[in-house]
Amino acid sequence: MTESAGPLLDQYGRAATDLRVSLTDRCNLRCQYCMPAEGLEWLPGDETLTDDEVVRLVRIGVELLGVRQVRLTGGEPLLRRGLVGLVAQLAALRPRPQIAMTTNALGLARSARALADAGLDRVNVSLDSVRSETFVKITRRDRLADVIAGLEAAAVAGLTPVKVNAVLLRGANETEAPELLAWCIDRGYQLRIIEQMPLDAQHGWSREQMVTAEETLARLEAEFDLVPTGRPRGSAPAEEFLVDGGPATVGVIASVTRPFCGDCDRVRLTADGQVRNCLFAREESDLRESLRAGADDQEIAARWRIAMWGKRPGHGIDDPSFLQPSRPMSAIGG
Ligand code: SAM
Ligand code: SF4
Repeated sequence: MTESAGPLLDQYGRAATDLRVSLTDRCNLRCQYCMPAEGLEWLPGDETLTDDEVVRLVRIGVELLGVRQVRLTGGEPLLRRGLVGLVAQLAALRPRPQIAMTTNALGLARSARALADAGLDRVNVSLDSVRSETFVKITRRDRLADVIAGLEAAAVAGLTPVKVNAVLLRGANETEAPELLAWCIDRGYQLRIIEQMPLDAQHGWSREQMVTAEETLARLEAEFDLVPTGRPRGSAPAEEFLVDGGPATVGVIASVTRPFCGDCDRVRLTADGQVRNCLFAREESDLRESLRAGADDQEIAARWRIAMWGKRPGHGIDDPSFLQPSRPMSAIGG
């Protein structure tokens, strides 16, 4: 970092080093816990950051604000035109950030190699079921085969460790965790099961319906021997378990029932250039406006630091005053 650099601190002593960049709010799936069947009104093109604007903001993050890891997300990041070129520009930044991507893997079979060559380090692929009918029920699209092909291509291209993220929904795939784990272990993918959060556009989440981490662990333990790896959870939200003595592991991310907000090191940038200091933040800070008004790097960095300082201590899902953010997960960047 340069002399006028300083980390993205908040009032509770946390420093954000993990930047999640949403590259688009569009998506080619319609996962029930994220988007309504009819989709959403997409951001107009001129409101979406250009490649140059994305690269400039990430450069400011890396050079002035202590960002060490960049995760590309969305919406579906693979739908962003020119993604390979953008990754190459991010990989050329110094200090070079780790570059990861969270994706539904549709089309990854075609682009995994080019993305890896451009500098993408790892992928997390979202896959909630390996049964075609359940996949269709959750995502409202018949694309399981493309996801499987995308996963295979990611592994071959060395985008490893390939992680699989699954959300369990009651009445859809809540009993499928053991099957998904066996499938991932067979192929060398690391499964992580994430509790569903109140981030769907339709506001259909309910605490009573949510499949808890505890319930999932009980289902897994009925079929596998799970032993905590003992690795400190730190800012990595998954509680990790060795499966049947290892080396395979499974992660459980209890975002709702065992929140990890105290160790959170994340900050988010939406596709239209708003900084969000938390998934559940109610306010955003408009960096696109600063960029387009001609602000210099230091001014933008200062604005970003102020945005982080206001980060709340926790997401407060269990507080009576909790309000779901107005933007859904697909527009925030998961
Ligand atoms: N489209 C890409 C994908 O699905 O991986 C990237 C964006 S998606 C919003 C990022 C992650 O958020 C996915 O792993 C998805 O399962 C997760 N997600 C979406 N809505 C969620 C919710 N309500 N609760 C928990 N996780 C959610
Ligand atoms: Fe699309 Fe990802 Fe949301 Fe599913 S979770 S609808 S793949 S953005």
